[in-house]
Amino acid sequence: MPNVVTRFAPSPTGFLHIGGARTALYNWLYARHHGGKFLLRIEDTDRARSTEEAITAILSGMQWLGLDWDGDAISQFDNAKRHQEVAEQMLANGSAYKCYATPEETAELRSAAREKGVPFRGDMWRDKIVDGETATKPYSVRIKMPREGETTIEDAVQGSVTVQNSELDDMILLRSDGTPTYMLAVVVDDHDMGVTHAIRGDDHLNNAFRQYQIYAAMGWTAPTFAHIPLIHGPDGKKLSKRHGALGVDAYADMGFVAEAMRNYLLRLGWSHGDDEIISTDQAIDWFNLENVGKGPARFDFDKLDSLNAHYLRQMSSDNLLSLIKNDLEKTVQSPLSEEESTRILRALPAVAERAKRLPDVIEGASLFCNIRPVSLTDKAANTVGGQGPMFNGIATELTALTSWQQDEIKAAIMSFAQARDLKLGKVMQPIRAAVTGGAPSGDLVELLEILGQQEVVARLNDLTEA
Ligand code: GLU
Repeated sequence: MPNVVTRFAPSPTGFLHIGGARTALYNWLYARHHGGKFLLRIEDTDRARSTEEAITAILSGMQWLGLDWDGDAISQFDNAKRHQEVAEQMLANGSAYKCYATPEETAELRSAAREKGVPFRGDMWRDKIVDGETATKPYSVRIKMPREGETTIEDAVQGSVTVQNSELDDMILLRSDGTPTYMLAVVVDDHDMGVTHAIRGDDHLNNAFRQYQIYAAMGWTAPTFAHIPLIHGPDGKKLSKRHGALGVDAYADMGFVAEAMRNYLLRLGWSHGDDEIISTDQAIDWFNLENVGKGPARFDFDKLDSLNAHYLRQMSSDNLLSLIKNDLEKTVQSPLSEEESTRILRALPAVAERAKRLPDVIEGASLFCNIRPVSLTDKAANTVGGQGPMFNGIATELTALTSWQQDEIKAAIMSFAQARDLKLGKVMQPIRAAVTGGAPSGDLVELLEILGQQEVVARLNDLTEA
C-alpha cells in the first residue's frame, strides 16, 4: 500500500504512558511495514493542561523505545489559524452555524436535559434568526449535524460500526474566544498532514463518528480508522498504577530494555500465530491491522520479565555494558577501569543468563569490579566464619599457579581439598562466599578465572583472619 501516513497524537498532559506507547508503536510499525510515513503531532491546544515537561517526557520516551518519527514533531497549537479558517469555511458552506449561548446558558440547558433524561444536543441556536444586536455578541461555532440517517465507520479493528445521526450533538468547533476544539483540530490536522490511517485507543471510537461529519462537511476523505482496545490489568479491570499504568521512563528505570518493551507492547493486543518472541524486524515485516485483538489486552509483568530476560541474554556484551555502565559506576562508586571493563565483558554472557532486569545484571557485574573488601551477607559471613586458616592455605596454592586457566584453578582447589580430606563443596562454598560476599553468582571456577589471580587471592587474604 503506497503512501501510508500514520501519526501518533499525544496530548502533553503527562508522561508517555504504556497505552500511548503501544498506540505509537502500532502506528510506527504500520508505517514502516508499508514504507510510509510516521508523524508525531503534539496535541497541545489545551494550553492550561499542556506542559513542556510532558512534551519532553513524550519525546524522550519515544526515542528510548526507538520509535523515530518522520520530519519534525508538529504542534497542534501552531495550526490554530488554520483550524479557524476551516470553521469559517464550514460557516460559509452551511455545515456550521454561530451559537450565541453564553457558557452559563449552555450549562443550564445541559443540566436541564440531564434532569429530563434526554440527550443534550447543543442546538439552541441551530435554526434561529439572529437579530442585529445579538449578531454583535460573542459566538461559538457549532457543527450542524445531520438529523436523519446513520453513519457507518468501517473500522479496521472493530469492523463495521453504525450510529444513528440523531445521537450526534451539534458540537462546538470554535469556542467564543476563537480557539478550536480538539474535535475540529484533530480532523483538520489529520487531513492537512495527509494521514491515511488513524490508529488509536478505542476510547476515541465515539469521537470518530462526530469527526467523520467534519470530513463530510468539508468534502474530505476520512482516514481509515483503527480503534484498538484499551489495556486492562491482569484482573481484567481498568489499568491502574499498581498494574503497570506507568510512564515508559518508569519501565526504563525498572531495568527493562527497549527491545523487550517493543516486543511486549506488540503482543499486548496483536498476535502472529503463537509467536511470543518477535524481533523488531519481524514485527515490521508482519504487522497488520487484521490481527489486532478485539478484546482488551491484559497487562502481565511476568510476561514482560520473561521477554526482558530473553533480550538481555541475546544482547552483545558491549551493548549490555553500555546500558549498565552509569548505574554500575554509581553502585561501585568509581569509574570502571580498563581491567574491570575487560572482566565484565567476559562475565556478562553468564551474568545475563541469570538476569531478568538490568539491576540483576548490575549486581552480577559488580562482582567483577575491584570492590574490596567485599561486603558479606549474613549468610556469607556465617560461611566464611572460622575459615581464615583455610583461606590462607588456598591463597598460597593459588598464588603459586603460573597459569590462570580454569583447569589449573580447579585442579589446585581439588588437590587442596584432597590433601586435607575435605569434600570439594566444603572448600568451594567458603571460597564462593569470600569472593562474592554472598551475591548471586554462576560457575565459581569461571568467576575466579575472570576475576584474575591477583584479585581472587586478595579477596581470600582479606579474610584470613575470619
Ligand atoms: N490527543 C488524543 C489523546 O491523547 C489522541 C487523538 C487521536 O489520536 O485522534 O488521546
